[in-house]
Amino acid sequence: MQKLQAKLKNTPRDIPHVSRTVNPGLNRDENLSGLDKVLACNNSDAALTVAHAGQNLRVSVVYVQNRRGDALMPTSPRKAKRLLKKGSAVVIRRTPFSIKLTTATGETKQSITLGIDSGYNKIGISAITEEKELCAIDLSLRTDLVKLNSERKTYRRNRRGRKTWYRESRFNNRKKAKNWLAPSIQNKFDSHIKIVNKVKKLIPISKINIEIAAFDIQKIKTPEIFGVDYRLGVQKNFWNVREYVLYRDGHCCQHCKGKSKNRILEVHHILSRQTGGDRPGNLATLCSSCHEKVSKGKVVLSITRQNGFKAETFMTMVRWMLIYRLRVAGDLVSHTYGYVTKSKRIELGLIKSHVNDAFVIAGGTNQTRLQYQCFVKQVRKCNRKLYKGDRSHIKNTAKRFIHGFKRFDKVLWEGSEFFVFGRRVSGYFHLRSLDGLQNKPSVHWCKLKLLETGGTFLIQMGRVK
Ligand SMILES: [Zn+2]
Repeated sequence: MQKLQAKLKNTPRDIPHVSRTVNPGLNRDENLSGLDKVLACNNSDAALTVAHAGQNLRVSVVYVQNRRGDALMPTSPRKAKRLLKKGSAVVIRRTPFSIKLTTATGETKQSITLGIDSGYNKIGISAITEEKELCAIDLSLRTDLVKLNSERKTYRRNRRGRKTWYRESRFNNRKKAKNWLAPSIQNKFDSHIKIVNKVKKLIPISKINIEIAAFDIQKIKTPEIFGVDYRLGVQKNFWNVREYVLYRDGHCCQHCKGKSKNRILEVHHILSRQTGGDRPGNLATLCSSCHEKVSKGKVVLSITRQNGFKAETFMTMVRWMLIYRLRVAGDLVSHTYGYVTKSKRIELGLIKSHVNDAFVIAGGTNQTRLQYQCFVKQVRKCNRKLYKGDRSHIKNTAKRFIHGFKRFDKVLWEGSEFFVFGRRVSGYFHLRSLDGLQNKPSVHWCKLKLLETGGTFLIQMGRVK
């Protein structure tokens, strides 16, 4: 106890969370970005024709908000241009092109149904009236959360073992909330709500249809499963996972099938334990000579990891929560199932895509489809890492702004739109399009024109594939 108190005496009590040695650029105010440079925003002609990857897309729907910021029925580009010229509307968003009226008008709204094809990696969104499709979104969700969180865990564990000031142990003093979801699941769940709210800002939605599905994962694994078998898992009567994996693989090296004559067996993680986990599908039996070769990188294993059922589990977990949350927000929500969507899609002769699925879910039949769709990619908001990587003491010197540009800003270069994916202090930036087809590793910032500042949803218009 005395020892502990002695240690506590040296504990700095009132230090700021981020030490002052941090690069001031990291803590700079966000609104310093070159917002005043967004000139193309005020030029409706330039914004209505999107030049990307050699395609010239002509936007056919312009979204409208009234003076209070509520969504009205979308209009045609021609009418929007006339309103802008007259001064009775202002541009509020470039992609997708939206205007806000400055004068009060009559507001007639038609019935619009929003179809959501919910998913683990991608969400499809389509909004339709009785005559036409008004909005089509293909959203890719983040997949880096598990990796980043386990990395953070490593740093924290390291810090605990290092010789720093005394920190009270904090492993057993927290409670999980009743509706707690794992961070990666929570993120995906929140993104569903977030994108629906974003669409509601564009168009006045009157009804939401969502596809949900329940999966019997045990039945997928063993189709003949019945009754009490559900309670008796495959690992019953085994001491631990290791014993089970050895038995499953017949106590035989899965790489050389026993040719090495080495009788010492080890259980190998096909993907690292950090990202792949300890589930039997990620484990394989190897003899110790093969295992050594694999660890040293001399041999590449031909064994593939069994795919988990993450996507299915996600849907089973969040489906009712999703409907409940949308209903609480005041929407009229109904749900449908995957097999219904599939049969209808085939009936209509549409190819499999998230937007087509969403169109069918919304109840689409012979409506005029949009010729383009919004490809949206979700990215992380910021990187607060102070040091570069594992055990590295090289400072992460990336400032929030370099020459007025921040990460994921949308810029115009040689008549095409790009996103800033990497910036160097030398002033040469890495530009990319969302589909990855256009990749410019080194372009000087002088040649770039800022179109939109980056956020967590990167939006790019593209032709329907
Ligand atoms: Zn072997």
